[in-house]
Amino acid sequence: MYWSKTLIPTLREAPADAEIVSHKLLLRAGLIRKLAGGVYTFLPLGLRALRKVEQIIREEMDRAGANEVLMPALQPKEIWEQSGRAETASNVLFKVKDSSNREWFLSPTAEEVITTLAANEINSYRQLPKNFYQVSLKFRDEIRPRFGLMRAKEFIMKDAYSFDTTDAGAMASYQKMYAAYQRIFARCGLQAFPVEADTGVIGGSHSHEFMVPAETGENDVAYCEACGYAANIEKATSGLPKTAAREIGAAPEKFATPGVVTIEALSKDPYKVPANRQIKTLVYIADSQPILILIRGDDQLNETKLLAKTGAVVARPATVDEIVLLLGAKPGSLGAVYINFERFPDDVRNSLFEARKNILERDGISGFEKIKVYADERLQGANDMTTGANEDGFHLKNVSIERDIKVTAWFDLRTVSAGEPCAKCAQPLKIRRAIEVGHVFKLGTKYSEKLNATFLAADGSRQPCVMGCYGIGVTRTLQAVIEQGNDKDGIIWPLSVAPYQVCLTPLAVAPESEPMKLAEKIYAELTAQGVDVILDDRDERPGVKFKDSELVGFPIRLAIGEKALAKGEVEIKPRSGPVQFVKIADAVSTVLALVKTVYSR
Ligand code: ATP
Ligand code: MG
Repeated sequence: MYWSKTLIPTLREAPADAEIVSHKLLLRAGLIRKLAGGVYTFLPLGLRALRKVEQIIREEMDRAGANEVLMPALQPKEIWEQSGRAETASNVLFKVKDSSNREWFLSPTAEEVITTLAANEINSYRQLPKNFYQVSLKFRDEIRPRFGLMRAKEFIMKDAYSFDTTDAGAMASYQKMYAAYQRIFARCGLQAFPVEADTGVIGGSHSHEFMVPAETGENDVAYCEACGYAANIEKATSGLPKTAAREIGAAPEKFATPGVVTIEALSKDPYKVPANRQIKTLVYIADSQPILILIRGDDQLNETKLLAKTGAVVARPATVDEIVLLLGAKPGSLGAVYINFERFPDDVRNSLFEARKNILERDGISGFEKIKVYADERLQGANDMTTGANEDGFHLKNVSIERDIKVTAWFDLRTVSAGEPCAKCAQPLKIRRAIEVGHVFKLGTKYSEKLNATFLAADGSRQPCVMGCYGIGVTRTLQAVIEQGNDKDGIIWPLSVAPYQVCLTPLAVAPESEPMKLAEKIYAELTAQGVDVILDDRDERPGVKFKDSELVGFPIRLAIGEKALAKGEVEIKPRSGPVQFVKIADAVSTVLALVKTVYSR
């Protein structure tokens, strides 16, 4: 390709709304342009790099035995109702209506479509296992699209779906995809590592995310350098001991705490109750029912764990008004010792209870009479604890959680912090930010049961297929490559996904000039060898050309200037290596040798 014939609109400055370095560089190097928030056009260079990532993915999916298909972006609402996700995934769905008022969803993923296909086309165990994948546009109504391609409303995803006859078979399919993912990210020059992950709204029992360490990532990962344990913070656990039990009095004791509404205030004079001796009571509305969450004063609730452990589809903190109706006190004085107004005499209690129940039910909140109490496991056995009295300005001390509180269920609900001992080997955990580029799930039979993807087993029985699903954010991966590979001058592409591997830079471009003639000759020779070459034929100052080529980040630059030419030499510079002068006769072989170092940057 000749530079003048393509479109590479490089920019000196990135637009102000580009916050992270990879987003800035995508724009500055002329790879993408924004049409609207979270919606981008790929320009020629950006598309070339994207196609290379896609090609690597296709090669590795094929190698792992998956079959490429292409499913529709328009998906009938009915199949989403059948799977139950029309409601649970509603907030990210783009919904469209056709002229006869039929509702469709724009594909955010394709479990429903592929499972419908399997229901129709797979009938016998003899046809299994099978794995299907596609590389296609996906649509998600992200509330906050940001960071360019990282969180877009429209993006390219590779999604694969495996169908097996047994759980062990499904596990083997999962392992194959896991191994393919490791190869894919390595070939893209990315340092990505797998971490244990929550299975979220998609469901399933077993899941890993592939993470690229980056300060600008939107995930926190807890990991142990000693034993290799790594998990998304939404899933991570640690080996912290439970709260130590102590001798305590016979019953909870109320004491006045005027104006004290935080854990911190209660830990100070004159009360001096350390945070680890306080029970924090949080009120949530989960699937329209109030729940109380008990967590130690020095711990933080992890909302993803709350959903995962309780099985709730949606949960939100209750409003102050709802809390007052539910517990009779404002946040800061809440507890679970006396709920449902148990501290009042029966007649008062009954009337309070009925009146408030009616108001809440009118607002769509039910389950008032049997508020569930979920407690974090770290509180198991804790006594000599202090908690709110459900009376503004009062707390209770001498609380034994197991004696005084009716806990519905114990779960691991807290967020792990750096420095806590690893649950496996007791060494201190570390936490770092990372970008999720891929995700593998073992789904089990959740979708196959709902959408009737069954097969006839060898013994004649009909059984649901055991499924797995596997996603890679292709456009996000491309941007992650840039987020990981850049310097002050621009992008540092790995050879494997660079839009062009070599930039030929003649420093005089008149058609019959010596530098241009030699550039055209080298261009022809390298192209014939299968190298992707761009020839910068613009009549610009050398400084401008060099700057642009560093900004776009072509892995190898071959400059042909008159001075060096007079000595029979050209100048070869790897993007992040030193300049070397080589004889004209050796130019092509030197470049070819450099291009062969496929995985290096
Ligand atoms: P996230 O937690 O970042 O929202 P997710 O867990 O919802 O992602 P999956 O459903 O697992 O995403 O999708 C598979 C892959 O698609 C992700 O690993 C990610 O790389 C990519 N992806 C998801 N949402 C987006 C988006 N809005 N823009 C770009 N890529 C995305
Ligand atoms: Mg995910």
